[in-house]
Amino acid sequence: MESENDADTGAGQSLEALRARMSLVNESIMENLNEYFRVAAAIGQAKDALGLAHYDAARESVMLSELLEKNPGPMPGDILKRVFGEIFRSSVEVMSRKTERTLKILRLPGAPDIPVMAGDVAVGGDAPPALMGGPCAVESREQMRATAGLLSAHGVKILRGGAYKPRTSPYSFQGLEEEGLIILRETADAFGMRVITEAVDARQVETVARYADVIQIGSRNMFNYSLLKEAGGAGRPVFLKRGLMATLDEFLLAAEYVWLAGCRDIILCERGVRTFEPRTRNTLDIAAVALLKQSTPLPVVVDVSHSLGRKDIVKPVAAAALAAGADGLMFEAHYRPAVALSDCNQQLDPDETVDFLDFLRGLPGFAEKRG
Ligand code: PEP
Ligand code: MN
Repeated sequence: MESENDADTGAGQSLEALRARMSLVNESIMENLNEYFRVAAAIGQAKDALGLAHYDAARESVMLSELLEKNPGPMPGDILKRVFGEIFRSSVEVMSRKTERTLKILRLPGAPDIPVMAGDVAVGGDAPPALMGGPCAVESREQMRATAGLLSAHGVKILRGGAYKPRTSPYSFQGLEEEGLIILRETADAFGMRVITEAVDARQVETVARYADVIQIGSRNMFNYSLLKEAGGAGRPVFLKRGLMATLDEFLLAAEYVWLAGCRDIILCERGVRTFEPRTRNTLDIAAVALLKQSTPLPVVVDVSHSLGRKDIVKPVAAAALAAGADGLMFEAHYRPAVALSDCNQQLDPDETVDFLDFLRGLPGFAEKRG
C-alpha cells in the first residue's frame, strides 16, 4: 500500500523528471535561438550591403502568419505572436547594435585624433586649440572689418559670422544672405583669416561652399538629414553643432550622415543643451566633450557664447572646456554688441575680446602642440 510519504516522493520524482525535461527543452530553445541570431546577423550584413533597413514590417508579418498556420499547439496563437514578436524585435536590436559599433566616425582602439583643416589652419589632432571668433551675424562691411581686424591682431585665425540666420522668431533679422557671404569672405581675405559660416537650408549649401572654408550646421538643424547629406557632399569641412535636445548618440549618428555623404573633415561642436536652468541660455555639457573625444578621433570644439548666452563667465568656462579636451573654442565678438542685430547679450565687445584672448593665452601650455 502506498503511504502518504511514498506518494510525496513519487510526485516529487515526477516533478524532478519534468524539470529535467524542461531544462533540456530550454537548452534546445537556446540552441535554436542562437541559430536564429546567427542567421539574423547574416541577414543584417546582407541588408547593410544593399543599404536596406534592418526592420521589415511586411516580412515579420509574413513570418508570423506562417508560424500561426503551422502551429500544432498547445501554445495559443496570441502567445505565439507575443513570443515571436519579442524574438523579431530582439534580432533587429542586435543587428543595429552591431551597426552602431561599426560607425565610421568612431575611434578605433588606440587610434590618434584626426585634425581637420580649415583652409590651412588645423583644428584638432595635436594642433593648439583653434579659435573661431566673430559676430553672431554679418551686418555690414564696417562691422566685419572692425571685428576681424581686432581678432586677427590677437591671433584668431578663423572668422565666423552668419549670413543666413536661423532665428527663433520669423520677425527677427534673418541675415544678409549672399551679400553677407561676400562681405565675410572679403573681410577674411583682407586679414588672412579663414571663414566658417552656416547653411540653414540644403538649397544654400552650394552657395555657402563657394565662400566658406568650413560649412556650419546649426543646432536647430542637427536632425535635418537632407541638409546633413547636402553639406557632407559639398567638398568642404563640416562644423556640426549638437542639437539643443540631442543625445550624444543622436549627435554621433548625425555626424555619420555627413561622413556617409563623403565628408571626412567633420568638426563636432558642443554648444549646450536645453535644460530647466534659466541662468544660462543653454547648459554646457562638459562631460560631452570628454565623452566625444573618447568615442571619436574628430575634433571637438566648444561654443562658449551660445552655450552661456552671457559673457561674464566665458573665461572659466572656456578654461573648463579646454581642460575637458576641447580642440578649439567658438565665441561671438562684435564691435558694438549693444546695437548688434542678434545675440547682443553674449557678444564680447572689443575690450572683453582682448581680455578673453589674453586670458586664454595665459593658460598653461595654451599655444603648444598637444600630443
Ligand atoms: C550660430 O553659431 O550662429 C548659432 C546660431 O548657433 P547655434 O546653432 O548653436 O544656436
Ligand atoms: Mn549667435
